[in-house]
Amino acid sequence: MAELSSSFYVDPQDLAPLAALAEEEGFESIDDLIFEVALRSVQPGICRVCGFTASRMEPDQREGWCEECETPTVRSVAVLAGLN
Ligand SMILES: [Zn+2]
Repeated sequence: MAELSSSFYVDPQDLAPLAALAEEEGFESIDDLIFEVALRSVQPGICRVCGFTASRMEPDQREGWCEECETPTVRSVAVLAGLN
């Protein structure tokens, strides 16, 4: 499982979704994922309920629509990382 160094403070409950996204996006660590994508205007996100990943989320998206469980529970990398 992808890990996080001490570069960022991330809410412990957001670690698992960030690790899943890092792996899905091909990054070896959560830090790499955050450095690479958290500043993009369009970035991946993940559903906090079912883990469904979405590829086109706005950086401040915290209530993105999940097509899988049909609830507004998708958050972007930047939001999960506590940057937005
Ligand atoms: Zn979902």
